[in-house]
Amino acid sequence: MLLIRCPYCEQDRPEVEFSYAHQAHKPRPEEAEGTLDDHNWARWVYYRKNIKGVAHERWYHAAGCRKFFNAVRDTVSSEVLATYRSGETPPIEESRIEGEEISFEYERTTEPTSAEEGK
Ligand SMILES: [Zn+2]
Repeated sequence: MLLIRCPYCEQDRPEVEFSYAHQAHKPRPEEAEGTLDDHNWARWVYYRKNIKGVAHERWYHAAGCRKFFNAVRDTVSSEVLATYRSGETPPIEESRIEGEEISFEYERTTEPTSAEEGK
């Protein structure tokens, strides 16, 4: 049985108590400069890094303290290398994305429509 350490409970707990949430340290859209069009909203909602190696992930202790925390996981072996509380600095650097480099920067790809300008 895989054990995952919850940084809030400070205990090693069985993996069935946890659920994966999403990619960690992803800037929220309101932190991006300017306004977001539909294209960039879709990028934020659906685009994810697909890292082969060490990845920073957001996990949820669903059957425990019910808090979100961050984990450093090797996506090849599925080994959880470290866990840390929200707001803390990752203890291990993330692997670089292999192959095509995908930008996660928010950018305006079209001119604002007249409806957007009227806001
Ligand atoms: Zn917990």
